[in-house]
Amino acid sequence: MTINVNLAGIVPFSTIDLRDKTAIVFFLAGCPFRCIYCQNYEYLDYKNLVDVDEIKSMIDRAEEFVDGVVFSGGEPTLQPIPLFDLLKYCKRKGLYTGIQTNGYMYDVVNKCLSYLDLISMDVKAPLNKEIYSTICGIDEKAAESAIESIKKILNDERLFLRLEVKTTIYKEFVGLLSDIKKDIPEGIDWIIQKGYVEKIPPQQTRMPASRERFDIVTELKEDDIKKLAEDLAGDRKNIWIRTELGDKKIS
Ligand code: SF4
Repeated sequence: MTINVNLAGIVPFSTIDLRDKTAIVFFLAGCPFRCIYCQNYEYLDYKNLVDVDEIKSMIDRAEEFVDGVVFSGGEPTLQPIPLFDLLKYCKRKGLYTGIQTNGYMYDVVNKCLSYLDLISMDVKAPLNKEIYSTICGIDEKAAESAIESIKKILNDERLFLRLEVKTTIYKEFVGLLSDIKKDIPEGIDWIIQKGYVEKIPPQQTRMPASRERFDIVTELKEDDIKKLAEDLAGDRKNIWIRTELGDKKIS
């Protein structure tokens, strides 16, 4: 039986997506969110069906140069059948594997668990349905469901060592960070990453509530992000920042 994957893009060689390992990254199309700052918004409604065997051939060719494979998006867990098949294939070859997810589909993450080395999950806002729906461009019912799934992932002890959490930060979101911190259990790596204004989607593609509440988002300077993370850390360990200069451990 042929399995297809809706593929939006590929980065053949990445040094930042699989912790200290190199990786080929596949971007799977489609996402239930419409985030204010989505850097990959062109992938959200993309259509490009590819036989998973073609992806496997690309992985075969890449394995000489990389340590592993990352599935990003869009939201890769929206395509559980090809995702599962490809993760299994990578693991049979002894490659490291990772997914980048918005956390919306706990059940899929759970199913893929034995084939995953890294789950890189966004926590985009405090886990409160009003603010989550605004930043993610979804209605409050979908936000509630997303929050429930994210909480399950954050509190699943089996995921602990394989999980990293990322929050994309703009000036307008700075006040949210202390509440986000309360939602992330201690010990999990938390990466505060710089948001870039030039990559955000056009305003008219955003949900009305998002447009009203955050009509602009403003980029922070690298030094400001570092200071912010230092102030936030307190006695909290495992806070990182990610900027154009790379990853830096703050605490
Ligand atoms: S979760 Fe948000 S940022 Fe990520 S792909 Fe979907 S819309 Fe874009």
